Amino acid sequence: MISRSTIDRVFESARVEEVIGEFVQLKKAGSNFKGLSPFTDEKSPSFMVSPVKQIWKDFSTGKGGNAISFLMEHEHYSYPEAIKWLAKKYNIEIEETEQTDEQKAQMNERESMFLVSNFAKDYFHDLMLNTNQGKAIGLSYFKERGFTDETIKKFDLGYCLDEWDNFTNAALAKGYDLKYLASTGLTIVKENKQFDRFKGRVMFPIHSMSGRILGFGGRILKADKKAAKYLNSPESDIYHKSKILYGIYQAKKEIAKQDNCYLVEGYTDVISFNQSNIENVVASSGTALTSDQIRLVNRLTKNITVLFDGDAAGIRASIRGIDLILEQGMNVKVVQFPDGEDPDSFAKSHSNSELKAYLEDSAQDFINFKVSLLLKDSNNDPIKKAGVIRDIVTSISKIPDSIQREVYIQECSRIMEISERVLFSELAQLLKKEVSAKAKKSKLQSAPNQDPNQPPPEYFAEMEQAQLGVVKGGEVAFKKVDQLSILEREIIRILLLFGNEQVDFLEEIVNVDEDGKETITTREYQNSVSAEIYVHLHDDEIEFSNEIFQEIYTEIIHQINQSEKLNIDSLVNHPNPSIANTVTSILMDEEKHQLSNWEGQNIFVTKATEVLYKAVNDSVFNLRRILIGKKIEELMSEAKESQAPVLDLEMIKDYTALKMKLFNKLNRVV
Ligand code: ATP
Ligand code: MN
Repeated sequence: MISRSTIDRVFESARVEEVIGEFVQLKKAGSNFKGLSPFTDEKSPSFMVSPVKQIWKDFSTGKGGNAISFLMEHEHYSYPEAIKWLAKKYNIEIEETEQTDEQKAQMNERESMFLVSNFAKDYFHDLMLNTNQGKAIGLSYFKERGFTDETIKKFDLGYCLDEWDNFTNAALAKGYDLKYLASTGLTIVKENKQFDRFKGRVMFPIHSMSGRILGFGGRILKADKKAAKYLNSPESDIYHKSKILYGIYQAKKEIAKQDNCYLVEGYTDVISFNQSNIENVVASSGTALTSDQIRLVNRLTKNITVLFDGDAAGIRASIRGIDLILEQGMNVKVVQFPDGEDPDSFAKSHSNSELKAYLEDSAQDFINFKVSLLLKDSNNDPIKKAGVIRDIVTSISKIPDSIQREVYIQECSRIMEISERVLFSELAQLLKKEVSAKAKKSKLQSAPNQDPNQPPPEYFAEMEQAQLGVVKGGEVAFKKVDQLSILEREIIRILLLFGNEQVDFLEEIVNVDEDGKETITTREYQNSVSAEIYVHLHDDEIEFSNEIFQEIYTEIIHQINQSEKLNIDSLVNHPNPSIANTVTSILMDEEKHQLSNWEGQNIFVTKATEVLYKAVNDSVFNLRRILIGKKIEELMSEAKESQAPVLDLEMIKDYTALKMKLFNKLNRVV
């Protein structure tokens, strides 16, 4: 685990504008920088960086945060990967802490395996470009396949000489330990003899999401009936076949940008698509698709298009795996290539625009595709058809979204000519079974250990939920924002922006004289904005209904109690991503008007300090008014049910009077 002090030093040194400047062209705009959103293909800038607040916000997607969250969003790094990237950029030494000796040893082991794999990648690439055998056999093979120099570089393709131990000797001479050559499988050690596993093969290095070399695929070039055409690294501490997608490192940016991922079978399909300018493509590399692999894509997009070869047997085998994609709430489309063609061959025999058009025109919704495929098989045999229906409803039951499920049921009812009622009852049974199976499973399993270095798995979901308007996949999914959260947000905004300011407040004091006559006098006093809000909310024991706002509020009050001053940085860089993101979002809304000049003229920019007194009062009193309104509603509905309405009605009357008072007061204070 990276030590707290390393993380602190990274936060102290990292400048958000410098970090983002490495990926986005930024232009000065007032006190901020603006640029084109790196997450969409926009033409006018809606991306903003505040060097003062050390935060960024992308108004076109709603994303925002600090330097770390930018790296996580843009480079798709994990939290520790982002910290490490920054540490490297700012020359900060990384301290690891809280590791047992065993963990340290294991960590070093993995690290050594990465190092030797990285050496192998460079070595094979170099051999192919700079030796006679490499050029004559390896490079010419790739050239024959139509791969350009650029593609060969992009995928770090290489060649392992057709000698018994050329690579192993080179690695040993460079000081790499035989132990790691063996544990990565690059070298096969047998009875004190050592062989290169990939002897005479062209090499496809397999990258992790962040670009580290996990393993290799090697294709044989000689016609050899006994040897496998493709050979992969064996399972190891760094290579887990079921958790890897070939090409994800090269594809991740484009997958996020296109908001779609093409899933193909193998190395050559991925590379051929890249040659045809389609870069959002990954391969499961010969294995059946796994949930872990799908999760990698799910971090980048909700949409997968699965590409099938022409042969029908392959399709029926792979169709099962697709339920796993549905289970993760992703939308699945299917493209089938003509008989005898695979994505690689099709890409090669067609122009870029023909390929693009084919992918777009023949993409079918997966459920519809499955229905028509299986119905064809059943040949109207009633028993087979019953099986098909069950199979399809099983797929539909995997979809987490109930509305989507319903739409599919309706559609299938139409295509399969069977009543919706029957399909729904089948679905209900399956869902019931699933629920009880899940309950059993969760009883048996205790919660898996969460890596303390990783943000919680909900990180990305939380980042989005923390914002009030969420934009995803082009659709604006505005959450139902009730009055209450708008006000709560306003109070947080006032605290964040003006919490430290001293303001003159007016207090109304109601005097009742002996005759019961009320006179109102006012008293002027000075207080900080945060103290004033605290007093109001504390007196009335008000809690925020929105959990994140409540957490931010608690944090702010805690800080003020500790140091009498609010430190915004600690909130922007808060370890809880929901807090960091919400704060960022609120702070950046203030800057939005700087994005374009015409907007600046139309937006009324409040000179908040001048009217702070009113702002504080209005928001606090409005909050009270709404809460009292809610309380009245609650009491009314309770009164309806309960047997003792008299008391409740008294209370309702009191509350209503209070509400009126507040209402009048609000209108009076100008
Ligand atoms: P060819 O030039 O004969 O078409 P290829 O290299 O294109 O050979 P294919 O047999 O067409 O390979 O297979 C397509 C993809 O399937 C390959 O890119 C590879 O990733 C994967 N593949 C094929 N055979 C194997 C295998 N034995 N093990 C693992 N993956 C394989
Ligand atoms: Mn092929």
